[in-house]
Amino acid sequence: MNNAVSKLKEYMQKFQQYETIENLLYWDLSTMTPEKGVESKADAIGYISTEAFRLSTSDEYGALLKELSTPEQFEQLDDALKVTVQRELRNYERFVRVPEDFYTEYVTCKARSQKAWEAAKKADDYSLYAPHLDKIISMTKQYVHYMEPELPPYEVLIDMFEEGMDTYTIDRIFDELKEGLRPLLAKIKESKQPDLSALKGTYDIPAQKKLQELLLSYIGFDFSMGAVAESEHPFTTGIGSGDVRVTNHFREDDPIAAIFSAIHEGGHAIFDQNISPVYENTVVRQVNLMGLHESQSRFYENILGRNRNFWTPLYEKIGDLLPQFRNIPFETFYRAINEVKPSLIRIDADEVTYCLHIILRYEIERAIFNDEVTTEELPSLWNDKMEELLGIRPSTDAEGILQDTHWSDGSFGYFPSYLLGSVYDGMFLEQIEKELGSIDELLAQGKIMEITKWLNKNIHQNGSLYTSAEVIQRICQKEISAKPLLNYFNRKYSEIYSL
Ligand code: ZN
Repeated sequence: MNNAVSKLKEYMQKFQQYETIENLLYWDLSTMTPEKGVESKADAIGYISTEAFRLSTSDEYGALLKELSTPEQFEQLDDALKVTVQRELRNYERFVRVPEDFYTEYVTCKARSQKAWEAAKKADDYSLYAPHLDKIISMTKQYVHYMEPELPPYEVLIDMFEEGMDTYTIDRIFDELKEGLRPLLAKIKESKQPDLSALKGTYDIPAQKKLQELLLSYIGFDFSMGAVAESEHPFTTGIGSGDVRVTNHFREDDPIAAIFSAIHEGGHAIFDQNISPVYENTVVRQVNLMGLHESQSRFYENILGRNRNFWTPLYEKIGDLLPQFRNIPFETFYRAINEVKPSLIRIDADEVTYCLHIILRYEIERAIFNDEVTTEELPSLWNDKMEELLGIRPSTDAEGILQDTHWSDGSFGYFPSYLLGSVYDGMFLEQIEKELGSIDELLAQGKIMEITKWLNKNIHQNGSLYTSAEVIQRICQKEISAKPLLNYFNRKYSEIYSL
């Protein structure tokens, strides 16, 4: 092996070790750490991530990446190493342009802002958060300007979460969705809402955990390379190779929330568990394409998990674990998991109105980065957009602008990836049905593994070798469009609501 390539692999191995340690600490912090142990874990995470950052921005590493990107060296690399060199060099060049004292101040500002957001949300008082948010916004603009002085800041942010994506494409897709959803939601509003009172009750938590295990195995989660635990907010993380873990949050009065969190995180985990081992020690094994990752969790959660036929082989088994389900008619359960109703909180929204929650955030982020709105005006802009898009108006900021954590840590540009994930799903669904036949039939026959295998082969095994747009082009031979998602919504909800 070429000397520079083996050096690159050594770096990659080191980064992977740092990442394993950091993720393991983070996993422990979120699931197990007692109150008094929090600070030392947080310190250790800070230490290890600073070490990794130093290594990835060192002069020596930069020189190596530049050497490997010269045409004569670059042409000899395989595809995964080409992607590795390109992505690493781009990140290297972005990060070395950020002055170290600015970066330290930014990190501290983010930590303070998150604390202020928590307090403001609890007290339902935007004024406690506004000065911090103001600072985060101006620092994020500056941060991105350091990294890419020639590019509009919001484009850079979008690209950081979904490589290759831009606002031109997002505008086109989101406008298509806004237009397409309006008539559907109007019709649903006019129609009869289901009676879901049969679901009220208290559900045993150990039994909910057994149900989670059953569901994860059923959809293809591999317990020989994965584990589960509990945390305040469900998440998925890889800890070194051969180990992908998910968490869930259980409530006695709401088994459905835990069921769908399990399926959602299971989708993320199945993606990571099936990345081909040939990509060890390259960036391909890490999927930082948030839209593509979200497309997989949402495919399992919504396209499969909210399909009537998904539950045909399973419904009786739920009743065995949670006996209350024996008294809940299947139809009531099916209506409950597909109830479309405008609501104030994004994370509780159904799959249809969820789209509008994201469009709202995207439009506000655009306004922030085009300097069209001040921090003081944000709560009323939020409420006006809620009314315009969903027809309801929050009565407090806790139900409005204070509900999400993303902006408090500078993650502007992240929200669109959730909805892009669903848009990709519409396209994947169309293609799967072309190749494998009706998804309803496969699910009704309990052949979900045929779908999982299709996703493994066409998407998961490649990790982040291709950008989302490339994945879609390769699989569907089309550019990204919201039409398949709209077709899916119209078909499904016309039947459910007898439209
Ligand atoms: Zn997710």
